[in-house]
Amino acid sequence: MKTKSLLNRKVQLALGAAILASLVVAAISYRSMVASTESDRWVRHTHEVLETLQNLLAEMQSIESNYRGFALTGKESHLESYRASILSAQQGEATVRNLTADNPQQEMLVPTLERLTAQKIQFAESVISLRRTAGLAAAADAVRNGPGERNTDEFQGVVRQMQDEELRLLMLRDADAKRRLGQTKTVLILGTVLGLVIAVGAGWSVQRDNSRRGLAEEELRKSEERLSLLVHGVKDYEILMLDPEGLVTTWNEGAERINGYRAEEIIGQHFSKFHTPEAAANDKPSQELKIAAEQGRFEEEGWRVRKDRSLFWASVVITPLHDKAGQLRGFGKVTRDITERKKSEEQLVKTVAELKRSNEELQQFAYVASHDLQEPLRMVASYTQLLAKRYKGRLDSEADEFIAYAVDGSNRMQGLIQDLLVYSRAGAAGKALHEISSENALKEALTTLGATIGESGAVVTHDVLPAITTDDTQLAQLFQNLVGNAIKYRSAEIPRVHISATKNGGKEWIFSVRDNGLGIDPQYFERIFVLFQRLHGRKEFKGTGIGLAICKKILERLGGRIWVESQPQKGSTFYFTLPEREGK
Ligand code: ADP
Repeated sequence: MKTKSLLNRKVQLALGAAILASLVVAAISYRSMVASTESDRWVRHTHEVLETLQNLLAEMQSIESNYRGFALTGKESHLESYRASILSAQQGEATVRNLTADNPQQEMLVPTLERLTAQKIQFAESVISLRRTAGLAAAADAVRNGPGERNTDEFQGVVRQMQDEELRLLMLRDADAKRRLGQTKTVLILGTVLGLVIAVGAGWSVQRDNSRRGLAEEELRKSEERLSLLVHGVKDYEILMLDPEGLVTTWNEGAERINGYRAEEIIGQHFSKFHTPEAAANDKPSQELKIAAEQGRFEEEGWRVRKDRSLFWASVVITPLHDKAGQLRGFGKVTRDITERKKSEEQLVKTVAELKRSNEELQQFAYVASHDLQEPLRMVASYTQLLAKRYKGRLDSEADEFIAYAVDGSNRMQGLIQDLLVYSRAGAAGKALHEISSENALKEALTTLGATIGESGAVVTHDVLPAITTDDTQLAQLFQNLVGNAIKYRSAEIPRVHISATKNGGKEWIFSVRDNGLGIDPQYFERIFVLFQRLHGRKEFKGTGIGLAICKKILERLGGRIWVESQPQKGSTFYFTLPEREGK
């Protein structure tokens, strides 16, 4: 549309320019035609004057020769010619007077001509009457002595003067006419060339625009064709158009695949055919179109019906289609069969619920088992200890050794059971989160570790630690396990442990527990957090391999992470994060 109006404007502009050029050419031609007619008139006029003057001269000569002829011969025929010439001369003079009325210089000379003519006639008349009365000799004498020749010369002089003036004017007018003709020619040539250039330019431009438009239209047609191929070829989506009432107007391959109808079966049918009978009865299809028209989009996931009446779970989007004037022309409807996704989502929800339940059961079991095992174990431990105390040295040495193993085993088992109990509690809902001082939590842990610190001579330092919303008991447990390990896995040096906390981009706190202990080989960085995984033998360091697994579980519950950075023999730094959250 835009290109079309542009094209029209171009054509109009070119037409306007061409009309203007023609008007200029026409005006100049007209002006030059008028000028040339005028100059023709003037040339004719000049020629007329020249001719009349020439005739006048001839008539004067005829008057001269005829009255002289009569004076010599006395023949009346001379007098006839003489009178005729007088008449012609007088007419000629009248004509000259008229013709030169517009030229004051010439007009001034006309009376001289008249005067000389009158003088000539007067003298001629006197000669004629002398011939009649006194005869040939007297007349010839009068002619000889008369002013005839002088008069004729003077007359000729005046006529020549007038002729010269006319010739001068003729030349001037001729030059003017030529100049105008030259100008007119130039303008005509320029005008014609300009017109031609405009016409050719406009033609070329229109041609170019036409071919461009042609190309653009071709491109548009191709792109529409491709789009239509794409829409029709799409197999996973039903893409169709509805008229404003909801009747199907287009159908694609995807629609056939999803709904089971062929195009000829469904085009012209109402789209409520895809709804369940209940939905159709509740006027749901019209509601969908209404929402789409009013809100610009209708979107939902719900059950739809295939041709074979089977149900499928559909993701449906309906958008209104308006023309340029904003008039509703229909709707576009895109539908996807997401039954499989729906099924797997449902399956996932089910699995997660099952997993949660079995996890809870497992946790419950671990808790109950470790809790219930504690009592009989305590009994076994206390009685083996009693055995050791009472019968040491009273049985043989082998019996003493066996009792010692039994005491050690029951002690270790007690440790394990206690740790397992802590582990199984770590992930449970536990206490509500409150804003607490992480420094207090550390202090509590250090108090618990008092004996260990005292024995080892460890130096534990810390930066200012933040107030944070979390579970203080669990945070104390974290510090206890990490600082405990830092002291336990010490090198030959006096253990030095430093705790600090930094804020990470405002979203979480990163705590770190740095030691100068044995360090850990990077290949074990992940493994040490797994339940019962230990890097050292029981003889070297006592332990159950549960401490770091407890830390990991606590942090899962509190929404944080834990990791280690270390180099063997160079100490380790354990990091854990806690999210910054509003106090609850
Ligand atoms: P436990 O200490 O009972 O063995 P943990 O889960 O606390 O169990 O630790 C797992 C293993 O990680 C330990 O056996 C030890 O080898 C290693 N470990 C933990 N903390 C440190 C540390 N600070 N320095 C060196 N090794 C450590």
